[in-house]
Amino acid sequence: MNKEKKCIFCGRNKYYSPLKVFSKIQKKTVNYYKCKFCKSIHQYPTPDNNEIIKYYDSYYEVKNILNPGYLDEKNKNNLFYERDKTLAEIGFDKKNFINKSNVELGCASGHFLFYMQFYGAKDIAGIDISAKLLKSIKINNVKLINGDLSKIKKNSIDNLFMFNILEHIINIKETMDQAVTRLKKDSRLILELPLTGLISNIFKTKWRFLMPDEHLHIPSIKGLKILLKEYNLKIIGQTRFGSGFTSGSIPNFLKLKFDYLAKKFKFGDRGSFLIIFKS
Ligand SMILES: [Zn+2]
Repeated sequence: MNKEKKCIFCGRNKYYSPLKVFSKIQKKTVNYYKCKFCKSIHQYPTPDNNEIIKYYDSYYEVKNILNPGYLDEKNKNNLFYERDKTLAEIGFDKKNFINKSNVELGCASGHFLFYMQFYGAKDIAGIDISAKLLKSIKINNVKLINGDLSKIKKNSIDNLFMFNILEHIINIKETMDQAVTRLKKDSRLILELPLTGLISNIFKTKWRFLMPDEHLHIPSIKGLKILLKEYNLKIIGQTRFGSGFTSGSIPNFLKLKFDYLAKKFKFGDRGSFLIIFKS
């Protein structure tokens, strides 16, 4: 890794020797570097923006190879159940959808847009980098925007949702700059993302979230907190979940047990956060 390259989360530039992970899509090995200070992980080099757009335009094909069913209609019920649980755990009251402007960055096939509408949201926008994914969404009275947060009016968002999107972004600082200029004072950012820590240390190169070209920057909780502080963002509710085991990799009763422990003792390899913007 380029010696000058600073960790996006903590700003330091010392790394451990790379974790080598094979990309099923590119059919080659890519390197992930762990920051020695905050223990966040970065893919380097990252693909360029055009490659990323191409990648998400072929997301249906890609997801069919890696996790079949992920973007399907059937999965919508599952998502409703997951989001119910998560929002309750971080302390986001669904009444907050009502009479507020709600924006989801990285809306993919739009399941969460349906969710917000179901719970009474009227002012909804979904943003995605892939025009093809947006075209697949059949929903009324929702703004669908191809691109990024720069297309949203400044100082206009009450609730910004970023579920499993930050880790996909090449230039996280640019996204954060755009986010905080679009958020109103005392507005909410709901963030969900994988986190490095105990579980990524155990699984090493086999960690489920080391997904080349998809996951470019994965913070530790320490790295995430440093980043948020820089933007006057304060965590007021959180949950950790996921034991690192994927369905079918171990017997289900064991997976349930490990998942339970990961949540209970807060070492899950994914986190959801309710964050307040103090401008
Ligand atoms: Zn770092």
